[in-house]
Amino acid sequence: QAKSKGKARFELFEPQMASAVLRRHDFKEELAKAIEREQMIVQYQPIVALDSGRIVAAEALVRWEHPVRGLVPPAEFVPLAEETGLIVPLGRHVLREACRQARRWQDAETDPDVEPIRMHVNLSVAELRDPGLVDNVLASIQESGIEPGQLVIEITESQLVAAAGVERFHELRKLGVKIALDDFGTGYSSLSYLHSLPLDTLKIAKPFIDGLTSGRRESSFVGMIVDLARTLDLEVIAEGIETAEQLAALRELKAGLGQGYFLGRPSAAPPRLART
Ligand code: C2E
Ligand code: MG
Ligand code: MG
Ligand code: MG
Repeated sequence: QAKSKGKARFELFEPQMASAVLRRHDFKEELAKAIEREQMIVQYQPIVALDSGRIVAAEALVRWEHPVRGLVPPAEFVPLAEETGLIVPLGRHVLREACRQARRWQDAETDPDVEPIRMHVNLSVAELRDPGLVDNVLASIQESGIEPGQLVIEITESQLVAAAGVERFHELRKLGVKIALDDFGTGYSSLSYLHSLPLDTLKIAKPFIDGLTSGRRESSFVGMIVDLARTLDLEVIAEGIETAEQLAALRELKAGLGQGYFLGRPSAAPPRLART
């Protein structure tokens, strides 16, 4: 009753707001169904060793293959999925798919000297708070038969501070899973906080890489992060490499690993993530 009254009021006084509420409601229903109907697909973007050019890892990135809207990017539905809790089943799906894909690539590798490919999967705070997370991660690893160390969980610096759920990281790491701090440089973590975290990898956020061509300041900044990572014994991945100049600059700075459109765009299981 109260509900229909509220709705009537919306219609009388705030038609725009009412339609926004309804749209949101529809979207939520649609999203729930999309997960069931397997419209959520995973694309993979290569992560490359800057010195050899070899693909050592891939990042799993979710997309909504919408029957009408086409391929919807995560920015348009991940926040709502987080708010509604739908991120938990969604994340579970992505994790499972990604581990399976890692295994397929591993099985297709003929060179015994090449290390098994690592798979990066993004997690949000809501997923970190899910009490079932560790069991899900373990199940995905076991079901696919990959080594725990092949799985890298990415969490953004800003989300991490919000989560304050560092305990979960320790649990994940006990499984042997690796942890990467995503979009590093865009959050507010202090150096001492960084030092206290169980981390394996720093991903340098794209804005720092963008500036690499234009000046010394950015390049010394990225150099500083690379040095910091070395001091903390962390691996570095430069995100969002779009040009040959940026790549050259990063090689010079010995950034280690890189990812970006210049090296490879996200795509649905590239047939040969040819590792050479
Ligand atoms: P992210 O984890 O930082 O992922 C990198 C994003 O940068 C991806 O956007 C990727 O397509 C894009 N990118 C890579 N190289 C370049 C480049 O050279 N230039 C430009 N302009 N962009 C580049 P995408 O796929 O739209 O994902 C956006 C964000 O959505 C991700 O940022 C991640 O935070 C989130 N996300 C994606 N998939 C998932 C998921 O399965 N679960 C959760 N919780 N979040 C996800
Ligand atoms: Mg990421
Ligand atoms: Mg990132
Ligand atoms: Mg991000």
